[in-house]
Amino acid sequence: MIKINKEYCKGCKLCIENCPKKCISLSKEVNDKGYFYAVYKEGCTSCKFCALICPDACIEVIKE
Ligand code: SF4
Ligand code: SF4
Repeated sequence: MIKINKEYCKGCKLCIENCPKKCISLSKEVNDKGYFYAVYKEGCTSCKFCALICPDACIEVIKE
């Protein structure tokens, strides 16, 4: 699975567009900076594409 630091996220959607499993969506609420942020849903395979592409280093991949 992944952990997303929502306060660092600017809602650029790069992680959403590049997740091969479509596990990430955009929130319906904004964070403290006023951005819609990335939210993990389910189905992650820990491929790390999202963490590598995020320009703000908001995503941590956790293997269980
Ligand atoms: S690690 Fe891979 S499968 Fe998991 S959310 Fe990120 S891009 Fe998607
Ligand atoms: S790539 Fe990073 S900054 Fe962009 S939406 Fe995803 S978590 Fe947020």
